[in-house]
Amino acid sequence: MLPAVAEKLYLTVRNDMMDRLKKEEVDVHTSTKVLEITPTGVIAECNGEKVTLEGYDHIILALGSKPYVPFDTEGLAPEVYTVGDAVQARDAKWAIYEAYRVAQKI
Ligand SMILES: Cc1cc2nc3c(=O)[nH]c(=O)nc-3n(C[C@H](O)[C@H](O)[C@H](O)COP(=O)(O)OP(=O)(O)OC[C@H]3O[C@@H](n4cnc5c(N)ncnc54)[C@H](O)[C@@H]3O)c2cc1C
Repeated sequence: MLPAVAEKLYLTVRNDMMDRLKKEEVDVHTSTKVLEITPTGVIAECNGEKVTLEGYDHIILALGSKPYVPFDTEGLAPEVYTVGDAVQARDAKWAIYEAYRVAQKI
């Protein structure tokens, strides 16, 4: 759905990756939202238009994620802390940092 691929990736790593994608003639669809996965491919929306993408052997989902806390933490224990992706899906350093802060506190 983002307008560019791996924008936050370290520049030289990104350049190398983009070169390889180009060399392998990989089709890249930015600003494209998958609406439905069908037996033959994917129906998506790109710039307000519905597009059908077909001809794949595999579909791999590597999507953003939402935080999920299924427990009612109220009254669960005298002190309950939520850290990491359960608060907000980010990268591992945030989970480590928050867990460290809580560990120091308790
Ligand atoms: C495909 C992918 C690639 C990533 N790449 C990177 C990267 O390169 N660098 C980076 O820094 N971050 C990366 N991340 C993000 C990183 O993995 C997370 O930010 C980090 O793992 C969050 O740590 P966490 O402890 O909060 O959650 P998690 O690591 O998800 O740990 C939660 C644990 O709780 C367990 N669990 C869930 N429900 C229950 C239950 N009911 N009972 C018991 N256990 C349960 C799960 O099995 C899991 O082991 C990536 C994430 C994904 C999905």
